[in-house]
Parts: sequence; structure tokens; C-alpha cells
Amino acid sequence: HKQSAMKVPNYEDLHFVLVPLMAQGHMIPMLDIARLLAFRGVTVSYITTPLNAARIRPSFDRTTLSGLPISLVEFSFPSAGVGLPEGCENVDELPSRDLARNFFDATKLLLNPLIEYLRDHRTPPSCLITDWTLPWTREVARAFHMRRLIFHGFNCFSILCFYNLYKHNVLESIASESDRLVVPGLPHKVELTKEQLPSSTLKELREEMREADETADGVVINSFEELEFEYLKTYRESTGKKVWTIGPVSLSNKDDGDKIERGKKASIDEKQCFEWLETKEPNSVVYVSFGSIGRLRPPQMEELGSALEGSGHHFIWVVKAGDALPKKFEEEPITERWMVIRGWAPQVAILSRLEIGGFVTHCGWNSTIEGLCAGVPMVTWPLFAEQFLNERLVVDVLHVGVSVGVQRPNGWLGEVEGEVVEREVIGLALKRLMDGGEKCRARRERARELGDMAREAMEVGGSSYVNLTRVIEDVLKYKS
Ligand code: UDP
Repeated sequence: HKQSAMKVPNYEDLHFVLVPLMAQGHMIPMLDIARLLAFRGVTVSYITTPLNAARIRPSFDRTTLSGLPISLVEFSFPSAGVGLPEGCENVDELPSRDLARNFFDATKLLLNPLIEYLRDHRTPPSCLITDWTLPWTREVARAFHMRRLIFHGFNCFSILCFYNLYKHNVLESIASESDRLVVPGLPHKVELTKEQLPSSTLKELREEMREADETADGVVINSFEELEFEYLKTYRESTGKKVWTIGPVSLSNKDDGDKIERGKKASIDEKQCFEWLETKEPNSVVYVSFGSIGRLRPPQMEELGSALEGSGHHFIWVVKAGDALPKKFEEEPITERWMVIRGWAPQVAILSRLEIGGFVTHCGWNSTIEGLCAGVPMVTWPLFAEQFLNERLVVDVLHVGVSVGVQRPNGWLGEVEGEVVEREVIGLALKRLMDGGEKCRARRERARELGDMAREAMEVGGSSYVNLTRVIEDVLKYKS
């Protein structure tokens, strides 16, 4: 591995402490960041809880992670004590959105064990990389006089949109949820409705997060300079912050075994999945997934199933354990035409297969950038959080997506009821994605170019590689 071969000895005294939010979409990229740092010879402590550690550990035992200086540090998570169900240690285990506040509050109880752990560690901590949703980590950085860097899980485009919306008080000034607004201060016009942005519930908590974010020493982003150059420039100029793109971090992960077990068990035999793919033509299969938290309601599942079947294309459709599948797919999960994966799919490995010609995605940033790395054009179907912004990036800025046209948020743990997108509308988006016409070919070509650029950014000397060196050097300088 090129990166692992570049170990720099004087980094051994550096100890990075990584504190991800316990949600798959945050833990996975943070684990990749741990690996990237460890390849450079930096000591890494990755903070988590028993249930999450159990999900990650198989990757450690079987793959490249095992030989690296990364400690998986487990602190017990007092779920029951804060009104959460026993064992609810990950956002994807939350039974309802109403318990989100309890979950964030419970994370604060990790503060003291973390301080104790770091006090006893043989290598004093040098830098904290913390999820932006965990503002209490400020205390840890203060206690050890170390750098505190923020990881949002988003791209710079979305971070900049939120920054400007807040700065110009845009959301407060819009009365109706369905009114359209233009995000101010951007190099391109970005328009969406108020309700397509994260709601103002948990407002107080958001305020705390925002403040911790603004006072941090820098920001690391799972993206690369060439992808959103103008947005990075504007963000750096507007905030004066140190901003480092160090991704796509999923490319740190060249070991197939690890790709498969990133976080949770695959519900199907991945060998079976690849054997099925081998019988298909290049660019002929559509991969459909809505991430680790989003859930479509039963009528929407019917419409989607029907549209996929009616499209005439091969497809892999990933559904959650409890999702109500249309009867036909329940009875026949695998045919020559389709494969339904219930549970956790080896997404990065599937996307990188040449047979995959399109990706129907909820636009979670990890999925989106994994799709970009694989050079696959997308049908964008945002559900909640910053996903409507990611859709704008993919469709309007990068020109690699076809929007399915969702207007309202949907599917946050299956509780938010948006509109049902009808089969004809989905069918049309699939047709545009896959019909082989001029626009389809242009999108595919552009996606392939972005994939090449992503890989170059991560190679030795590429922009993300150099940025990670800058992060490490910045911490070294601060320390001395
Ligand atoms: N993922 C996966 N298999 C699945 C579902 C999700 O490997 O069946 C991974 C996916 O590759 C991505 C992450 O889980 O790395 C989901 O993060 P994303 O930001 O796309 O969405 P979220 O789950 O946070 O909504």
C-alpha cells in the first residue's frame, strides 16, 4: 500500500483522539480517518462504545487495521439511565426521533471516562478530531491543551450553505415551510425550501454545536479540493478558518474484507452477490440504497419496487431488516433480474464493480462520495438532514445526477411522512439515468472523470494526501 509505505518516524509521538458520533454514517468515515493517520505513523485512539466496537472489531481482526497503531477504546454507554432502550448505543438503534435529545445528552457522559483514559495514556494526546454534534468534547481539548478539529460528515458545499443561512438569518425570516429560499453568498445559485433543511427541533443543542464548531481550531472534510474548489475558497475566505479536505476517505480502504464488514454484518453472502454481478454486462445494474437510517414507508416501497421492475434494468435493492417489501420481492429476493439485500450491504465493494451503471441514493454524503469515487451517475432521492443540499451539489454543480424530484423530507426513522413519489416519476428518472442517450453518456463520462480525480487526490502527492500532511504538521507545530 502506497500510503502505508510512507511512514514518517517523527510522527510517532503524536496521538490523535477521534470521537465520532455513534451513527454508521459518522463512524465509518472516522474509522477511515483513523486508518489514514495510522498509515502515517500517528498513534490513534478511536473512541466508541461496546455495541459499536463489536460492529467494528471484525474489521480490525481481519484486515489492514490490525497491524496499525489504532486503539479501539470502549466506554460503556448508559442507555437505560437516560431513558433510552437498553443497548441503544447508535442512532440507527433509536426507536423514535423523539429520543434524539436523550441520545445526544447521553454522549456527554463519555466526558469523564475519556479524560481519565487520556490522563493514563503513555502518549499524551496531541489533537482531538471530533464530530461536530459533540460540543462537550471542547472540555477534553481544554484539559489537555490540544488542537480541536471538527469533522462534520458533510461536504464543504453544505457546510458553507449552513454557515451562510445562519449568518444571514435566512431561516428565521422565512415564514412558510414550503417557501423557496436562495442560499446567500455562494458562487452558484442554490435554491430550496425551508422544510428541506434540517428542522429547528433541538434548537438549543444546535446552538451549542454551532458555537463549538465556530471556536474550533480547524475543520477536516471528507472531500477533495478539485471537487468543490470554489466552495472551499469561499468558505476559507468567509471564515478565515483552517479547512482541510482529506478525502474521499473511503479510498483509504483497499482491503476487500474490510469494505465488506465496515461496521455491521452483511446480511447476504457477499460471494453470492458478486457471482450474481459477474453474469451482468458493464453499466447494466442499478444499485438502490437509502443509507443506514432512512426508511421508506410501505406505499413508497410499492411504488419503488414497481418502478424498478418496470425499468427493465437489473438492480440490487438494499432494504432494512424491518422494511415492508412488496410481496413479489419478499417471495423472490433473488432472480436473474434483481437481488434484494436485507440488512447491511457491502456498499463500497458493490459500487466499485463495473457492472454497476447507476445508483439510486438518498444522498447521504458518504454514499454520495462513494458513488463519485466509483464513477457512477445517480438518481438523487434525499430524505432528511443535509441531503437536499447534497442533491443540489450532485445535480446542479457536478452534473452527475438526475433528481427524482422529492419536495419534502421523508423517512427519518420512518416517522416523517413526505409525499409518495409515484412509479411513473421514478421510472422516468431511471430512464434518464440509464437510457444510453447523449445526456446519460455525458453524466457517466463526468462521473468517471470525478472518480479519477478522487483517486488522484488520495495518491501520494495528491491534494488530500498533502492536506493530511498539513493537518499533522499543524498539530506538530502547535505542540512544539
Ligand atoms: N452502508 C453500507 N451498507 C448498507 C448501508 C450503508 O455499507 O447497507 C454504508 C455506506 O457505504 C456509507 C454509510 O453506510 O458509508 C452510510 O452513510 P451515509 O452518509 O450515506 O448515510 P446515512 O446512513 O448517514 O444516512
